[in-house]
Amino acid sequence: MPDSIADAGWRFDNSYARLPEPLFSAAPPVPVRSPAVVVVNEPLAAELGLDPTILRVHGAGVFAGNEIPPGAEPIAQAYAGHQFGHFTNLGDGRAILLGEQISPGGRRHDIQLKGAGRTRYSRGGDGRAAIGPMLREYIVSEGMHALGIPTTRSLAVATTGELVLRNAPLAGAVLTRVAASHIRVGTFQFAAAVEDDRLLPALLGHAIERHDPTAAEAADPALAFFTGVVERQAALVARWMLVGFVHGVMNTDNMAVSGETIDYGPCAFLDAYDPLTVFSSIDQQGRYAYANQPGIAHWNLARLAESLLTLVHGGEEASLEAVRGVLATFPERFDRHYLAGARAKLGLVTEEEGDRDLFAMLLRSMHEGQADFTATCAGLATVAESESVSASEAAVPELREWHSAWLARLGRQPGSPAEAAARMRRVNPVVIPRNHRVEEALSAAESGDFGPLHRLLAALRDPFAETNENERYRGGPPAGSGAYRTFCGT
Ligand code: AMP
Ligand code: MG
Repeated sequence: MPDSIADAGWRFDNSYARLPEPLFSAAPPVPVRSPAVVVVNEPLAAELGLDPTILRVHGAGVFAGNEIPPGAEPIAQAYAGHQFGHFTNLGDGRAILLGEQISPGGRRHDIQLKGAGRTRYSRGGDGRAAIGPMLREYIVSEGMHALGIPTTRSLAVATTGELVLRNAPLAGAVLTRVAASHIRVGTFQFAAAVEDDRLLPALLGHAIERHDPTAAEAADPALAFFTGVVERQAALVARWMLVGFVHGVMNTDNMAVSGETIDYGPCAFLDAYDPLTVFSSIDQQGRYAYANQPGIAHWNLARLAESLLTLVHGGEEASLEAVRGVLATFPERFDRHYLAGARAKLGLVTEEEGDRDLFAMLLRSMHEGQADFTATCAGLATVAESESVSASEAAVPELREWHSAWLARLGRQPGSPAEAAARMRRVNPVVIPRNHRVEEALSAAESGDFGPLHRLLAALRDPFAETNENERYRGGPPAGSGAYRTFCGT
């Protein structure tokens, strides 16, 4: 059968399943009643070496967990984690790793089914997911990817033909997630907490091979690996801050050592700029508020440091000293990425002492004037081109004074304003996954209309170009919409 799903181009390796058993357990997906494909990411399929047409036409069984593609060895991964500061044993309670697809370029990608049934780690949960949260992850992760921000990807969403019981009965669905790996800070916490001396070295070796091959040659591989994770997280969280992304549930089990954004639950993007923004209904203390994210990343990395301690060379004190030294570099690494990104958003190519304050002042003015973060940044290119503050007359009054200071700063660097504007248009997106547009697509999808979903996905694919088609996706929510709230999508 030339057109069978088995011939889609699967090329699985299962290196995680060769690690010591306590790190995972076998977990066959639980078949569902009536699988149907809602969306397939055809460009991603092609990158993975999979035939997009075969996936679209024949993929329902695989994407819902009813068929196992050749070479896959389904497992659930064990992990622990600090959830809102409290340590818990977790593991994939509703996610099943099919294996690692080796792409034509030789890259290794975890292929995971989220919502594919109960596993050994399900505790009281049903192992299932509802269509809304799975499409939400698809939309936002693909939006992040288009923004150039490291993230897990979404290959497909399939409905199950079964209901899941949440506050109300909802249509069940499975998301096929693609990741550089699903190794979390919490995976190391699990390996360090279990009394089995094999786990930590095996996990570290595996993670190094996948994410930091050069660390294997370093004088102290564990320390070199830790340094790599610190650097990737500093870069990642800086990128989030610069597009107004609020992850919403930065527990240590939701932080990947690969440096990819992972576990899109209650996440959302800022509309009006307010550093204290919290979207998640369960984050009552505001632990994971927008402005807290760098500090939380640093805190999470301290948990990783503790977990790696026994693997770092030297005696107890020397290794503690060493990891502390690396951990202490997080703020300056974050700051370096953040400042470079801020300069780019402002169109600056030279460095001046006052640039940090200039950006901070922009944020303050936006906050005071309740200006939209994305639209304000995107509008700067037009102000630069016209070289006059009057172009912003219609905008927030708080910003006018700032514009003059910034235009003066632009005038002190080489290159024309048009060049600056062109550079800025490459880094300041006009389209992000706006909360009200995401909700619009999800509620239509929940009642069986997938048109808005596909139109939103199309608009998100090219977030930097202002086009006729993406006009309705550029603006913030209608005035008076009230504070946006998200709910943990379980
Ligand atoms: P999350 O909040 O999605 O990061 O999930 C936290 C933990 O709860 C993870 O161990 C999940 O696997 C588990 N979990 C979430 N939803 C379910 C569910 N419906 N059934 C079983 N386990 C779940
Ligand atoms: Mg999670």
